[in-house]
Amino acid sequence: MSEKRDLLNYIDGAFVPAKSGAWLDDIGPATNTPIARIPRSSASDVQDAVNAANAAFQGEWANRSRLERADLLEAIADEIAKRAPEIAHAESLDTGKPISLASTVDIPRSESNFRFFAGAVRHDETAFHGMQGALNYTLRRPIGVAGLITPWNLPLYLLSWKVAPALAMGNTIVAKPSEMTPYTATLLAEVFDAVGAPKGIFNLVHGLGGEAGQAIVEHPDVPLISFTGGTETGKRVAATAAPMFKKLSLELGGKNPTLVFADADLDEAVPGTARAGFLNQGQVCLCGSRVLVEASIAEDFTARLVEHVKAMRVGAPDDPSVRLGAVISQEHRAKVESYIALAKEEGGEILAGGGRPNLPAPYDKGAFIEPTIIGGLSIDARCATEEIFGPVVTVHTFKDEDEALEMANSVRYGLAASVWTTDLKRAHRVSAAIESGMVWVNTWLLRDLRVPFGGMKDSGVGREGGKHSLEFFSESRNICIKL
Ligand code: NAP
Repeated sequence: MSEKRDLLNYIDGAFVPAKSGAWLDDIGPATNTPIARIPRSSASDVQDAVNAANAAFQGEWANRSRLERADLLEAIADEIAKRAPEIAHAESLDTGKPISLASTVDIPRSESNFRFFAGAVRHDETAFHGMQGALNYTLRRPIGVAGLITPWNLPLYLLSWKVAPALAMGNTIVAKPSEMTPYTATLLAEVFDAVGAPKGIFNLVHGLGGEAGQAIVEHPDVPLISFTGGTETGKRVAATAAPMFKKLSLELGGKNPTLVFADADLDEAVPGTARAGFLNQGQVCLCGSRVLVEASIAEDFTARLVEHVKAMRVGAPDDPSVRLGAVISQEHRAKVESYIALAKEEGGEILAGGGRPNLPAPYDKGAFIEPTIIGGLSIDARCATEEIFGPVVTVHTFKDEDEALEMANSVRYGLAASVWTTDLKRAHRVSAAIESGMVWVNTWLLRDLRVPFGGMKDSGVGREGGKHSLEFFSESRNICIKL
């Protein structure tokens, strides 16, 4: 694979630059060097993509049976599997994440998203409600052109999580990946091309969020928007889409608690908490960045966590033994570092990390940062309440379950939580009381693709996953027949 290339838009089955001829650099964060260029697309390019998607929707695609659509998804999964090493390499280069993570999580999961939704639509069923003298059945229909907007932290993983169910239900797509991580979306377009997918069902428009992204959200012929990204951007997307009565799914930010009770098995809770805090350099929306630990074990637990985290290797993403790569950009590192400085001002103590690792060239120019644990902050400190989205966790102690819950629920977000305890009754009680779309007990990020995925409070609106995705990407209509 050439490592510096032009990544083009994919519109109506053709790879094309922006009509304006403008380009944006795609920077590899591990070395801070350009690895590619992308078209800086405008509303006019989005218009072409919507036209193509609409034509495909009105044409052959809408008439394909769900079994034929499922077959196409399987073919796409096969092609991703065939090209997996190349795609994983591109994902690692583009995001700075370790190749070990891209090749064992991001790309296999992207492949399985297509296989999963192929299976889901094959086995899909709709409701029947009999009544006295009449019967009702639910008719599910595709909606039209789906606008899919995705962030930089899990580029292909999250894009495929939307593309697969949108197509499975018979919609067509205009997608915009983050301008910071456009690479694997382009490779996905190549996959569509290679398997002979009908023209116009999957269109890709690169560019800036405020330009190409905004143009998709406000386009009158895009009735459905699935957005994953930050809460502030989500507000803008909602403000644009709501008055147009678009169907909207918003998967937004988080500031997720990890609760460790005194009865937890620390041999599992310590590595589990570290994994939840630092996977993908802490850049997973589900990361547990607030560690709440029962006072009676706080000293022992924190010492073990610090020891564990200090042993995590940060470095060259292509080194298979490395656990943490670079964060997404120099700007993002500066933001994360500003929170570490703020923590010190707020009276926090840096228990691990806090600085930049010493790495040899060319990684000395990359956006690396040590995994950082901060103690001594109050639970309402800015570092403990605002989403940092980097390798930084804060540790706080609680005296009992009530206080643990109060602390867990004290933020504006409600995406995910993990609870570490060996008390089964407590596990159920606490899980139900945490204001969060997802709770893991004695584990973290164990995913079954059928379960509802999404957040409460400022973490989003709507659910994706399994039948929730199939419902979101279709219109359910009731037909009532009098007997
Ligand atoms: P972001 O800045 O909100 O961007 C997300 C996407 O929206 C990008 O493609 C961005 O394009 C685009 N965008 C920006 N402004 C837009 C606008 N006005 N209209 C339409 N699209 C626009 O988020 P990010 O920094 O990429 O990602 C990190 C955030 O995503 C974190 O808050 C994280 O928690 C959240 N996240 C949530 C989930 C979840 O499932 N809940 C999963 C992963 C990440 P550009 O990048 O080109 O500006």
